[in-house]
Amino acid sequence: MADDNAAQKTLALISHDGKKADMVAFVIEHKAVLSRYNLVGTGTTGKMISDKTGLVVRRMLSGPVGGDAQIAAMVAEGKIEAVFFFVDPLGKHPHDPDIQGLLRICNVHNVPLATNAATAEYIISAQAL
Ligand code: PGA
Repeated sequence: MADDNAAQKTLALISHDGKKADMVAFVIEHKAVLSRYNLVGTGTTGKMISDKTGLVVRRMLSGPVGGDAQIAAMVAEGKIEAVFFFVDPLGKHPHDPDIQGLLRICNVHNVPLATNAATAEYIISAQAL
């Protein structure tokens, strides 16, 4: 993902509570690359990333109150280069319809989508974004 135009590109960062530690570890490990992009995140994930890494993250609403839906809208509008959404498959989520909507809209628009840390590693190492 080492791209001269990276500054104009936006990556979305979202993580369920059970995966927030993984997300912070991922961002710390790849801070140099991620700092070249505009970052947007759901409310709590975004705050945690900013607090722990110092990176600027545009914070949308928290996921359960519409943040996933906001990011889905941005994906639909072509504003997001890739989505890193670390989901907790063992948790119950009151906003599951919004989660499924975000995953679906990424697939509708063929936007790269990592739902776990291993896939995120592949994407961020691909130099393709
Ligand atoms: P949060 O939302 O970052 O505000 O916790 C994530 C989610 O559950 O979709």
